[in-house]
Amino acid sequence: MADLDALQAELSGLKLETHPSLVKQKSRDFFWYSPVLKRRLDDVTGDLVVTPSSEDDVARVLAACYRHDVPVTVRGAGTGNYGQAMPLAGGVILNMAEMTAIRSIEPGVVVCEPGAIMADIDRRARTETGQELRLHPSTHRTASIGGFVAGGSGGVGSVRWGGLRDLGNIVRLKVLTMEAEPRVIELAGEDIHKVNHAYGTNGVITEVTMPLTAAYEWVDVVVGFDALSSAAAFADMVANQDGILTKEIAVVAAPAAHDYFLRHQRFIGREQHVVVLMVAPFAMDALAGLVDRSKGTLTYRSDVTVAGDGESVPPAYELCWNHTTLRALRVDPAITYLQILFPYPDHLTKVAAMADKFGDEVVTHLEFVRFDGNVACFGLPLVRFTSEERLDEIVSVFETAGCPVFNPHRYTLEEGGMKQTDPVQLAFKKETDPKGLLNPGKMIAWEDPSFDYSSHKTYLFPGLHRA
Ligand code: FAD
Repeated sequence: MADLDALQAELSGLKLETHPSLVKQKSRDFFWYSPVLKRRLDDVTGDLVVTPSSEDDVARVLAACYRHDVPVTVRGAGTGNYGQAMPLAGGVILNMAEMTAIRSIEPGVVVCEPGAIMADIDRRARTETGQELRLHPSTHRTASIGGFVAGGSGGVGSVRWGGLRDLGNIVRLKVLTMEAEPRVIELAGEDIHKVNHAYGTNGVITEVTMPLTAAYEWVDVVVGFDALSSAAAFADMVANQDGILTKEIAVVAAPAAHDYFLRHQRFIGREQHVVVLMVAPFAMDALAGLVDRSKGTLTYRSDVTVAGDGESVPPAYELCWNHTTLRALRVDPAITYLQILFPYPDHLTKVAAMADKFGDEVVTHLEFVRFDGNVACFGLPLVRFTSEERLDEIVSVFETAGCPVFNPHRYTLEEGGMKQTDPVQLAFKKETDPKGLLNPGKMIAWEDPSFDYSSHKTYLFPGLHRA
């Protein structure tokens, strides 16, 4: 048993929290989006929250935890939705919320501490230099940049820039190792992959350098269509228009957009399948031409005065990505979701086939992205949850049809990803975390190297520590 009292004594002078209900609060993220994870992880809690304010503090915590064999799970803002930031084996929650310094903003790059919230980075970059981050999740207002790099994959901006995994979308990272004397390692280029989307299992990110691009007063747009296929074709066409600068293109099938986008409801007919876009102001005339050509109806644009009661509406990006799921869940708690790649070049054919196959049980929601340089789409469909078995069946139907599923109902890296060991991330963990104390239970390759992915069994971490 780890001696937590001795650990606390060694950490004196740092900000510590041990009150069980406050520790439990900081042990949770948005895992409850998944009824499967909710059931498995609801009781998970850490023992102690430590809030460092500098890289030296982080090194002190890691060295002390290493000495006492105490697991450490890093927490950004806790908006991850696969239990990424949940301390499955208990121990310390390393809360990065006070490491928020934005150190420099130059043409093309920002350097900041990992706890900086993305909306704050964008606000400063925009005001001081007319720039903004290339990519952000739809949790822009609440999520940290370190959490995005370690736990996210892409989002708003991916239609132009691809995902975080694409070379160049993260410039440089500083990482601390979990050793007797923690070392600082700087990663750039291909090496970024070692910790990008590794859930903090192989190092604690203490500084992030991200690329910036020109900022625009993006116009939020909603276009309605009579048929889902017309909406998807329009979205694909706009995403492929090199001259029309867009930051976001999503499709939501009827009647979900009307039923779940409550503050936009007055702009959307119940029968309308919608395309939600963020468009650069100078491209709006060109976009309007494409809407006409495609027989769509421009039902909402944020740059013109909206008649009505003046009630404000959320930004378009908060209708997209997992905010679509969030809005659906608020109206109908029985809804859950999946994450599916519809690969180029026959993505639209596959979207249509799957929509026909599942009908109302799996409601189409697409996010258009550049994937390996081509426009393809991710599906984040809204799924009417009946049972775990049925959810697994739906997953296997998509996979058999050639649409890989990044299963959001699993808490491990491999099961939520490519269902295979990532040798680069595993090798880096051997180097940086020899005792396996960073975020235990999330990397199957470390916990159970003989795990058989072809068995389709769910990996259950044997060290799960409950309240
Ligand atoms: P956390 O949830 O706190 O952490 C995420 C992971 O990173 C954890 O494994 C944690 O241990 C690790 N971590 C955090 N900080 C560090 C660090 N300094 N060093 C090492 N590891 C660290 N994700 C997307 O990619 N795109 C989306 O569009 C998107 N939309 C979302 C919408 C909703 C409504 C919700 C609930 C979630 C969404 N997400 C999305 C998931 C999540 O919001 C993002 O990935 C977000 O960037 C996570 O940031 P965070 O600060 O909340 O990280």
